Parts: sequence; C-alpha cells; structure tokens
Amino acid sequence: MGSSGRIVVVGSANADLVLDVDHRPSAGETVFGSDVRVTPGGKGANQAVAAGRLGGDVTFVGCVGDDDHGAMLRRSLEAAGVDVGHLRTVGAPTGNAVILLTPDGENAIIASPGANRHVTPALLTGSRAALASADVVVVQLEIPLDTVEQVAREARSARVVVNAAPAATLPPEVLAVADPLVVNESEAAVLLGEAHHGMVPAGSGPAGTIPAGSGPAATVTALLALGPRSVVVTLGGAGAAHAVAGGRTEHTRARPVDVVDTTGAGDAFVGALALELARGADLGDAVVAATGVAAFAVGRRGAQESYPHPHQLSG
Ligand code: ADP
Repeated sequence: MGSSGRIVVVGSANADLVLDVDHRPSAGETVFGSDVRVTPGGKGANQAVAAGRLGGDVTFVGCVGDDDHGAMLRRSLEAAGVDVGHLRTVGAPTGNAVILLTPDGENAIIASPGANRHVTPALLTGSRAALASADVVVVQLEIPLDTVEQVAREARSARVVVNAAPAATLPPEVLAVADPLVVNESEAAVLLGEAHHGMVPAGSGPAGTIPAGSGPAATVTALLALGPRSVVVTLGGAGAAHAVAGGRTEHTRARPVDVVDTTGAGDAFVGALALELARGADLGDAVVAATGVAAFAVGRRGAQESYPHPHQLSG
C-alpha cells in the first residue's frame, strides 16, 4: 500500500431508512416491513467513508441539517478518518433515502435531497483551496448539476472521477474531465440516450439494459465516444469493464460472494477506485482492487457499515 494523495469527495450525505419487505408495493398496495434501521448513507458520504476507512487522505464537501441524522453522518465520516472541515450544517433537514430491501438482496430507493440541495456552486467557493490541492476529486449526481459543472472547472489539476449516478445525461464539459467516468449498466444506457428511444426504462436494473448483441465492450466504446478520458462500467455480479480512451476494453471478474445486501456496492467500488488512483495505481489495478472492496460490501448489510478496513481484505 503506497501513501495516498489527497482525495476530495463533493457529494451527498443521507440518512438511509432501511426496511426489509417481502416485495415492493405496487400502486394502492400496503406492505408491512421490518423495523426501520437508520444508517449513514448518501453516495458522496459513502464514497468518502469507503476511501477513508481504507486509509485514504479524504476530505468530504457536503451539507447536512442541524438534526440527529446530520450528527450521525458527521460521526460516521469522522470515524472513517474523513476530514469534515468542509461538511456544512444548513437550514434544511438532512437528506433521506428510504430503502426497501427485498430477500433477493436488491433494493428500491426513494431519495429526499433536503440539505443536499444546498451543495451549490456558491458553497463550493469556500472549498476552492481544497479542490485546488486535491490529487483526485470525486463527484456523483445527488447534488445540483451546476455544482458538478463547477467542480469540473475548479479541479483542473486533479484527476476527476465522475460517477454519473443516479442516472442522468451530463454536459460535455463534465464528460471531458472524467477520468474515469464510472457508471453501472442502466446509468450507461441513460447516458447513451437509449432510454429516449424506448429501448431502456431508466433505472430498470442491470439486466437487459444494453442493446442485444453489443455487450459491455461496445458500451464502453460508446461511452468513450462521449468524450471522457476513461470509462468504467460496473456489471454487478459480472464485475466491471474498463478502457482508457484509444485503448482496448478489459474485463475484471467480480469477487465471488454470497449476496446479502447490494446497497452501496457501487459507492464502495468508486471510493476504493479513487483511493487506488490517489495512490498512483493504473486504472486496471484500481478496478481490480475496487471489485474486491465492493464484493466485501455486498456480503454485508448496509452501506457505510458494510465497508471494509484494510485488514479485512487480506486473502
Ligand atoms: P450499483 O451498485 O451502482 O448498481 P453494480 O451493481 O454494478 O453497481 O455493482 C458495483 C460493483 O459491486 C460491481 O462492479 C462488483 O464489483 C460489485 N458487485 C455487485 N454485485 C455483486 C455480486 N453479486 N457479487 C460480487 N460483486 C458484486
């Protein structure tokens, strides 16, 4: 393990309200769930905790409310060694995600952004120095898009990891700095505009979201044509595919694991990837390490609470 460069994660922090259900309710239906578990989550905070717990030098830029959920998130970030000097407390409730977990380990999520709406370009001006001195900057899309655009402008000397999740299209200026752009298969389909042609219901899950006969390599190639410097497509239990612009697509198998809860698996992947890149790994080695960390998270309940410490990854 080399020493880590500085990582700045700009993103969301949510209290996850997790309920086990037999099946997801359909319109007009009531289903009974388990007792609610309240745990720290949000894509940005998850990614920061994943990298911090593994030993990274991580600063989190985000917002929480002046409430118990905000305090929980602050504690979780601090416990992972993340610098919370840029975590602001604002006059809105901490973001929430209501997560319905079914026995197959899949989840359905309702997100209520709350304080995450306050992660604005104006707020970012207070974090300029941190962004300017970062080696790796990580963004996702649970904060306002104009903030993501601002990060792309301000983080010019850093390597920028753009996780286009939840699924959305991105402006060319953001795509141009992405190194890598990280998406799962349904997010890839949305970025490629397939949802608009009626081929893919956005967010319909990984299976069947890539046009028949094309496969992950074609998806990676199509995403590279949008302008990022490199691309990683995560493939759930099938691992991940990646390529650098102009290079061949490589496939990395997932680490076999008994699936307990996939919540936050993609965030564990992105956090671990950012850490390896900050340590100077090349993209392929970073993807291999990230699949190991993500598999560990899939084998345990929760998001942040399922992320490993370094000694848990050996073997
Ligand atoms: P997301 O959680 O964002 O939808 P994926 O489902 O593609 O993203 O999962 C992210 C990563 O988590 C995968 O690339 C893989 O490394 C790991 N992963 C997900 N599901 C499994 C699984 N069933 N077994 C092993 N690893 C998994």
